[in-house]
Amino acid sequence: MPRVITLTCIACPVGCDLEIIIDGDNVKVFGNKCPRGQDYAVKEVQSPERILTTTCKIISKKERRLPVKTEKPIPKEKLFDVMREIEKVTVEPPIARGDVIIKNVLGLGVDILATKTVKE
Ligand code: SF4
Repeated sequence: MPRVITLTCIACPVGCDLEIIIDGDNVKVFGNKCPRGQDYAVKEVQSPERILTTTCKIISKKERRLPVKTEKPIPKEKLFDVMREIEKVTVEPPIARGDVIIKNVLGLGVDILATKTVKE
């Protein structure tokens, strides 16, 4: 029995409303104004991924937390596991925007990067 879901494509600001019909491994997409919507819908159905943005602990005179993010999207089901890894880390300045805070987090092939420069 096919399953129908609706999603808003977030691959660009147009935000097309997508109707997706899933029948086993077969995924049909309607409502997309370009091929990126098809790719987005299939990926979202088969292996959804997200960029994680959060903060980690920092010992600093000026900042209470350091903003960090994954360098690229990670599987959605790993978001909370990665957040727990980030919560274990405490960094000390100087930190530059783009510095690697955790290399290859949980073996996912993705680094956690600082998104702010903190000098002290
Ligand atoms: S389907 Fe294409 S035009 Fe529509 S929101 Fe997605 S990327 Fe933008």
